Amino acid sequence: MTPAPVSDPGRDELGLVLTGLTLAGMIVAAASAYGDISAQVTAFGLTLVYIFGGLPSAARALHSLWFDLVLDIDLLMVVAAVAAAAVGATFEGAVLLTLFSLSGTLENQAMGKARRAVEALMALRPETALLRRDGTVAEVPVASLAAGDVVVIRPGSRMPVDGTILSGEGAINESTVTGESVPVVKGPGSSVFEATVNLDGVLDLRVDRSASESTVARMIQLVTQAQAAKAPSERFSSWFGQRYTAAVLAGSVIAFGVFLWLGWPQQDALYRAATLLVAASPCAIVISVPAAILSALSAAARGGVLFKGGAALETLGAVRSFAFDKTGTLTTGQAEVTGIVSLTGSEDTFLALIAGIEAQSEHHIASAIRRLIDRRGLTPASVTGVTAIPSEGIVGTDDIGPLWAGNRRLAARMGAALDDPGLLRLADGDQTVIYMGRGRQVLGAVAVADQTRASSHAGILALRKSGIRQIAMMTGDRRPVALRIGSALGLRDDEIHADLLPEDKVVLIADLAAGGKVAYVGDGVNDAAALARADVGIAMGAAGSDVALQAADVALLSENMERLAAAHLLAKRTGRIIRQNLVFAMGAMLVLVAGSLFFNLPLPLAVVGHEGGTVLVVLNGLRLLFDPIRSDRA
Ligand code: ADP
Ligand code: MG
Repeated sequence: MTPAPVSDPGRDELGLVLTGLTLAGMIVAAASAYGDISAQVTAFGLTLVYIFGGLPSAARALHSLWFDLVLDIDLLMVVAAVAAAAVGATFEGAVLLTLFSLSGTLENQAMGKARRAVEALMALRPETALLRRDGTVAEVPVASLAAGDVVVIRPGSRMPVDGTILSGEGAINESTVTGESVPVVKGPGSSVFEATVNLDGVLDLRVDRSASESTVARMIQLVTQAQAAKAPSERFSSWFGQRYTAAVLAGSVIAFGVFLWLGWPQQDALYRAATLLVAASPCAIVISVPAAILSALSAAARGGVLFKGGAALETLGAVRSFAFDKTGTLTTGQAEVTGIVSLTGSEDTFLALIAGIEAQSEHHIASAIRRLIDRRGLTPASVTGVTAIPSEGIVGTDDIGPLWAGNRRLAARMGAALDDPGLLRLADGDQTVIYMGRGRQVLGAVAVADQTRASSHAGILALRKSGIRQIAMMTGDRRPVALRIGSALGLRDDEIHADLLPEDKVVLIADLAAGGKVAYVGDGVNDAAALARADVGIAMGAAGSDVALQAADVALLSENMERLAAAHLLAKRTGRIIRQNLVFAMGAMLVLVAGSLFFNLPLPLAVVGHEGGTVLVVLNGLRLLFDPIRSDRA
């Protein structure tokens, strides 16, 4: 019942061996007892059980009593088994120890699953990479790579870092990071993740992040946090378990006293007290919640949805409305420049300048512009002192003076008029328009079109199907774009909110929160406040900004909205299973306690009822493990 400490696989294996020996002893004892072999063989089997099933529990019980001053369930079980043996019910005591050892091992296996998923991921991180420098290629440790280095990736090898393909094309299996088993073909300009497998291409990769900051490194960190953050019901059951354990021990001692006082023979009184102890032990209650939550967390992680803890999982299951950011969340990060208006010089000088100011921005608009000038073979102008203004744009200075690039709102703030016919025509469409200017003078504008993610529509439909009534899209982009994307996704006009500043998103979420718990899904710096305000913040994993990932409770590494809907269903199912388990466990306990107090319930029945119930709730929780959240099941 005491979970093995994080990252101690040896202890898991020891547990398996001990349980195996206990089980073997039990089988020998049972077979010889029923097969009428010899009493010595039975005694041998029982001894095995008491040693391998009982001593470890006794050791754990004494450990927590001595060091943490905690009376835990191990202690109850050991006391019950000893009491049983004392009244001659050695066999029943052995059954109790065997089943207890079995349920503990089952639980540990479940807990270990989630942990091992991450450890497996760590093992997949390559240790060396082929660095291309000054025309030569050398093998270097991955830890020594810095952003900007170029590494060569051979077919069949794993990516040593998060990076961008400079040349070459290949099919890439990203299942380690996103859970998606179908390979994706990627070419120049595409980003790849550390630990994914390059199946067939020869690639030159530019290192985007050092190994310690890679997506996988962040995942590992997330999951480690997840193990520390307990869900409320988990906290409740361990809190309850501890107090209850003390109460049961005290109750059994008192019952023993009362039975004696009633004038029962000592043997009978002890037998009944032991039965009560077994019947009333809260094993099933304590174990039911973590078994379910850990199984669900691990199933979700395999599908590319990482929860920062059981609490986030529980809250997601109770969510009533979902709000989505548009750019980079419902739409792909791969926006394209679709129109250019240059009011002063040539188109190329204009593009070089706007690329210069956007050079360091993480916004999807900026990467669209960078990709365009890469294709045209232009060099970005040098712009310094660049500052982003979330949801508006960006400002900086070149050798002539201050520059800005951004939306209408920013232009208005700069006092720039947008009445040039070329600009008006560009703004007539339903694309995002970015203006650039110096003070009041507008230098030109580009139109950028983003496309809905393939999974967005299906994801939203699935959410509606699973009972989410309120779905909202919240964007800092202008209304025509918002309407185009929103209606393609089947959103009603009143569900589409455009021209928002980061703080407006927070206000809208507070409005939604009046109708129940709210989840917010976003990717950008401008989403951080909304992610933090929502009951569950969900960040787009790999392409999302670090700020968003930090503010969020859940990371959507697969970036697949159907997976998100499936994770929501999984969270709901988890809640249901926890409730089932708790009701069942409490009910079974009440029946057993009543039986032992008033109906002379025999000890063997109490043992089987109690431990059988514990095994049942663990198995019920473990069902979630086999509930992979795949898009085809959303
Ligand atoms: P969303 O909320 O849909 O993710 P944002 O709030 O990030 O959108 O952006 C809102 C608008 O702000 C964009 O449509 C764009 O007009 C402007 N903007 C934001 N960042 C930049 C940038 N780096 N360069 C130019 N314009 C920007
Ligand atoms: Mg965004």
